Amino acid sequence: MTELIAFTHGDGPASEWFGRVAVGDVCEVLGPRRSIDLRGPAGPVVFVGDESSVALACALRTVTGDVSLVFEARDPARLADVLAGLGVTGRVTVVAKAHDRVELLGQAREAAAQAPSTLVVTGDAATVHAVRRDSRAWPRTPGQVKGKAYWAEGRTGLD
Ligand SMILES: Cc1cc2nc3c(=O)[nH]c(=O)nc-3n(C[C@H](O)[C@H](O)[C@H](O)COP(=O)(O)OP(=O)(O)OC[C@H]3O[C@@H](n4cnc5c(N)ncnc54)[C@H](O)[C@@H]3O)c2cc1C
Repeated sequence: MTELIAFTHGDGPASEWFGRVAVGDVCEVLGPRRSIDLRGPAGPVVFVGDESSVALACALRTVTGDVSLVFEARDPARLADVLAGLGVTGRVTVVAKAHDRVELLGQAREAAAQAPSTLVVTGDAATVHAVRRDSRAWPRTPGQVKGKAYWAEGRTGLD
């Protein structure tokens, strides 16, 4: 069985399709195409993402329980509810998406302060770039960084 968790961000063919697809509809599925290989993280994992990263966070938790999840979201309370509904609890932080990303970067840095970790970062291309860059100055730099842009402002059709 394949499960998909899609963020209907409202402005694109996939988002519209997920908004209207109904039980019993016949669908053509191709892929999956390459995402992030979550196998064998060294040590605790610091995961940074957004609404488009929820499925990956769920998959990660099947690989390791030693994970701190930090999300940015347009509607943090709504995403927190969705995560709780999926049983994604424990070390979970959801902050409001902001252009300066100060709170997000602060939370990620704090999550990484405990021990050398693996950093997994996906979602908005600009956030992936900002987190990767900031992580180089963390007191404990991650032993491994796995990052992938899932979408980018103004760019269409990223997977
Ligand atoms: C490897 C990989 C795995 C992914 N897994 C998931 C997943 O499990 N669940 C999921 O929901 N998404 C996932 N995504 C992200 C998803 O593919 C993109 O969000 C995609 O752009 C959505 O297609 P669309 O047709 O709705 O919008 P597009 O036509 O691609 O884009 C239209 C406009 O919407 C904007 N946009 C696109 N995505 C977002 C967003 N998330 N938030 C805000 N604005 C956006 C774009 O900047 C563009 O301006 C994944 C992407 C990759 C590369």
